[in-house]
Amino acid sequence: MIPYGRQDISQADIDAVVEVLRSDFLTQGLMVPRFEEAVAEYCSAQHAVAVNSATSALHIACLALDLGPSDWVWTTPNTFVASANCALYCGAKVDFVDIDPRTYNMSVERLREKLEKARKEERLPKIVVPVHFAGQPCNMIGVKELSRQYGFKIIEDASHAIGASYNDIKVGACSHSHISVFSFHPVKIITTGEGGMALTNDPVLANRMRRLRAHGITNDEELKQPRPNNEIWNYQQIELGFNYRMTDIQAALGLSQMQRLDEFVSHRHGIAERYDAELRPLPIITPQQASGSYSSYHLYPIRINETESGKTQQKVYSALWRKGVAANLHYTPVHRHPYFENKGFKVGDFPEAERLHREVLSIPMYPTLSQQQQYSVVQILADSFAS
Ligand SMILES: *Cc1c(COP(=O)(O)O)cnc(C)c1O
Repeated sequence: MIPYGRQDISQADIDAVVEVLRSDFLTQGLMVPRFEEAVAEYCSAQHAVAVNSATSALHIACLALDLGPSDWVWTTPNTFVASANCALYCGAKVDFVDIDPRTYNMSVERLREKLEKARKEERLPKIVVPVHFAGQPCNMIGVKELSRQYGFKIIEDASHAIGASYNDIKVGACSHSHISVFSFHPVKIITTGEGGMALTNDPVLANRMRRLRAHGITNDEELKQPRPNNEIWNYQQIELGFNYRMTDIQAALGLSQMQRLDEFVSHRHGIAERYDAELRPLPIITPQQASGSYSSYHLYPIRINETESGKTQQKVYSALWRKGVAANLHYTPVHRHPYFENKGFKVGDFPEAERLHREVLSIPMYPTLSQQQQYSVVQILADSFAS
């Protein structure tokens, strides 16, 4: 089977991991800070906090921004469930903003309309979580502008988008947000097996997230409460945190992968350009790129319009799988999952995301996809429309 995405692990990556395994520290050693520095430097962000997943990073990002019960978080329905669950972990409420039908990212127009309405109803969101779908940066200038007007905080769910840029600024720089989050799951751009990172330019948020990833414990003398008998070894837990730490084994892999990040992304662009050209004759829509956006091409989502092509998404999907191409579907809109339907969301709430869901397929896109494999994907796809 040709998967829709997979990791690229080199001998250097393996050597870096083995070296940590032979060292004194498998966790809480030097590799995590080195990995954090490398990513912060790459993105020109001031601070980076590595954790065991992007899901954890989103959770502590929400907590660091003081999200709590009665607050609202808005995100896009066209995302992985974790972008919404982070709000629910904090006891907050979640709502969605429909997508732009061209970029499949959160629509700034829909966001503006929804904010106007929410202001009247006094239920403005505390945090908005834009997602850079498929690696294409969301219209962050638009979102930032509205955040100034309506006073919400911004967490970029950049799980798809390390290596992408927006108006020549790297995603992760947090120039239009308070916190940005990356995922290092193996299908993403670089991997640590499981892993994630939260970046910010605000030292207070960075310290808070560091504390929350390690049980809420501090060694900072200024934050500790005075003790009667001057115990000297004492760290203190001053709030409820979690064990969300990344191991040094993972960080070593991540640090090693960082050396090839730009190469990975440029490979992905090469694949995208070939698909763009080869798929032009087919009755499908290939991913459109907004101006000022340099995608990391985590995904290559094609869109199949049934009236134009005479084929349903399901038909094409089955034809691909039968011929060994493991296409995937990104995404079932979050509000259409049973858990969210039980919260009152229903069909028709976010029509553009729902329409995309009926038409979209992610076809194979990863750096080690060979030209030959790619041409065979194109051929199988073409055949599925011809028959
Ligand atoms: C993968 C992904 C996540 C979760 O990442 P993990 O590292 O697996 O927790 C969150 N949001 C989006 C958009 C993702 O694609």
